[in-house]
Amino acid sequence: MVDGSRSACSAVTREGKPCSARPRPGSDRCPWHDADLTEQRRAWSARGGSSRSNTARARRRLPDGALTVDELRGVLGTALKDVLAGRLEPGPANAAAALARSYLAVSEASAVESLERDVAELRDLIAARGSA
Ligand SMILES: [Zn+2]
Repeated sequence: MVDGSRSACSAVTREGKPCSARPRPGSDRCPWHDADLTEQRRAWSARGGSSRSNTARARRRLPDGALTVDELRGVLGTALKDVLAGRLEPGPANAAAALARSYLAVSEASAVESLERDVAELRDLIAARGSA
């Protein structure tokens, strides 16, 4: 089948399971199993280590204006001292505390998503190597 409409690669992994990667357009095999891409795969593997770790670092980097956990800790520590010293009203301090909790929850969810993507990527690589 070369109509490109297949939903999964036709190759079988070393464990005997069908490859679940998406086939290339016009092929029934994914980039890892397509015989036409053997040379390119070698090039990808050669530079894979460095580009993958760069991607992982970029994913972990927060967008401009975002706070690291240490920065957030510093802001909250200052706010706490200000509340105790009477320089900051409890109302705004409560609002800041609620926002900080939300901020941490979103940061944790984002970190989990990033890990899930890395695990999926590693599974695909292991499956591809298993049948190469
Ligand atoms: Zn495949």
